[in-house]
Amino acid sequence: MTLAPAILILGQASLETAKTIAGLYQRAEIWGLEGRVQGADKTYSHFGDTLRALYQEGRPLIALCASGIIIRALAPLLSNKQAEPPVLSIAEDGSAVVPLLGGLTGVNDMAKTIAKAFDVKPAITTSGELRFGINLLHPPVDMVLANPDAAKKFTSDLLAGAALRLIGQSQWIKRSKLPLHDDGDLTIRITPEITSPSDNELIYHPRTIVIGIEKPCADLYDHVAKILANAGLAAPSLALILAHEHDCNNDDIRRFAAQSGLPLRFVETEGALTPHSVDEPVKLIEETQVTIAIADTPQDIVLCGRPRGRLSVIGLGPGDKQFTTPAVLAELAQAQDLLGYETYIKMAGTLRDDQRIYATDNREEMQRARHAFELAASGRSVVMVSSGDPGVFAMATAVMEALDQSDNPSWHAVDLVIQPGISAAMSAASKAGAPLGHDFCIISLSDNLKPWSVIENRIHHAALADMVMAFYNPVSKARPHQLGQAIEKLRQLRTPETPVILARDIGRPAESLRHITLSELHSDMVDMRTVVLVGSSLTRTFDRAMGQKWTYTPRWYGDEHRPKDFK
Ligand code: SAH
Repeated sequence: MTLAPAILILGQASLETAKTIAGLYQRAEIWGLEGRVQGADKTYSHFGDTLRALYQEGRPLIALCASGIIIRALAPLLSNKQAEPPVLSIAEDGSAVVPLLGGLTGVNDMAKTIAKAFDVKPAITTSGELRFGINLLHPPVDMVLANPDAAKKFTSDLLAGAALRLIGQSQWIKRSKLPLHDDGDLTIRITPEITSPSDNELIYHPRTIVIGIEKPCADLYDHVAKILANAGLAAPSLALILAHEHDCNNDDIRRFAAQSGLPLRFVETEGALTPHSVDEPVKLIEETQVTIAIADTPQDIVLCGRPRGRLSVIGLGPGDKQFTTPAVLAELAQAQDLLGYETYIKMAGTLRDDQRIYATDNREEMQRARHAFELAASGRSVVMVSSGDPGVFAMATAVMEALDQSDNPSWHAVDLVIQPGISAAMSAASKAGAPLGHDFCIISLSDNLKPWSVIENRIHHAALADMVMAFYNPVSKARPHQLGQAIEKLRQLRTPETPVILARDIGRPAESLRHITLSELHSDMVDMRTVVLVGSSLTRTFDRAMGQKWTYTPRWYGDEHRPKDFK
């Protein structure tokens, strides 16, 4: 199941059940009927249209309503069995779990998982599955059925009483209720080799092939494809790429991993690029660049190597989810560990139970950055959360400082990415008009990490240079007077009419925006949740509808650039 399931509910009474189901799946969304449901992730106004649209997107669908409503809504679309996503009907209180469609895409597995959460029996009606406990068309993720077209007749023969012989190893088959006999007429063959099935045979390719990259080279993908073809090995059996730790930043290996879609893991530089648990690989093809090892079973690969840890430093934007980039949302979805100031972690939205949270006080930045590297260096996927942009008075800089000061190679080997966000000055400016339309600077008024004299000097020169200024961290309980001093400084160099914007809690429920002038500005009007924008000599304010104002700074500067028709 690749897409996130959509859970559709028609009334408030179903919300609790929907939440229990949502907790079972990563990124599941609860869709509630407009006007009837509060607290859902999304709302919809027409059940049938919504269900059909989601179905056509291929989304797994879980609807908390009568089966008949779902059947009638989807009836016009039911022609192609292969393409159908799982569709389940579930009683409002979770007492009945009915898989309706998607036998090939895992609906019965979903029904079993959901039914378990409510301690009920799923309404499984697939006869093969009922009798044998498994669906031959739907193997576990570590095996691929090579000849699905043969499965229907194969299952009917089994149901008619034929016995089955297993060639190769599979716990899935062994633990099922299939009628296994050494001399069975039907065979299931588990093999990583390309073989054409005989009549009455199903072939599964287990994910048991490990590709060890001894020496990276530019065309790894083609190279490996050629080795596999020469050796008669089936591509679906590829399980993993293993590389030496010293190659963790190698672009050829990364490209190969991306092209093949295979997971990439690393072993210590001295270690062997084969599964530890296999003393003697069944088959080993030594080439100059690549070693191919075939494990006995997919389980032998589970503990092989360790993933490259990732640290992604993200900016949520001002607060409203709409202004968080899709790249940042993707990072949040894949995170195993989240670190950050508690308020920002809460702002990041609902997290899954399996995501570990390390919420700390805002001032412990270096400690937090080091902790993030320790977690990531152990192979975990870590997200460090900032508000706005992570590089603007936020955690990306602390992370860089921590790495710069460290000579720990495992920290430097972490896959480090910085994902930008919309900074407070940009979101505030967009609400006010276009005050940052010409040259501007951003100055933090916090003198925790720099002397006040430097801040005053910067304000002085920015004012002399006639730049628009955005003040972050304008005032705090520990520094109540600095803003007053900054205002004094500005008044010496800017006219009293200079437009000033006070933008507080932008993109959050308590958002407020005021257009005032420098003469009106007083530090009492400002707190730590405010960004203050101070205009240049050209910044203008004019009225807009509903008694509000627009403020902007023109694109041009100086009389010789002023457009002739501009007042
Ligand atoms: N990385 C953040 C800035 C962190 S410094 C960013 O890029 O936006 C914290 C300061 O940013 C606050 O004191 C305030 O001046 C400003 N700020 C952050 N979020 C804000 C918001 N939603 N509304 C107004 N100001 C905000």
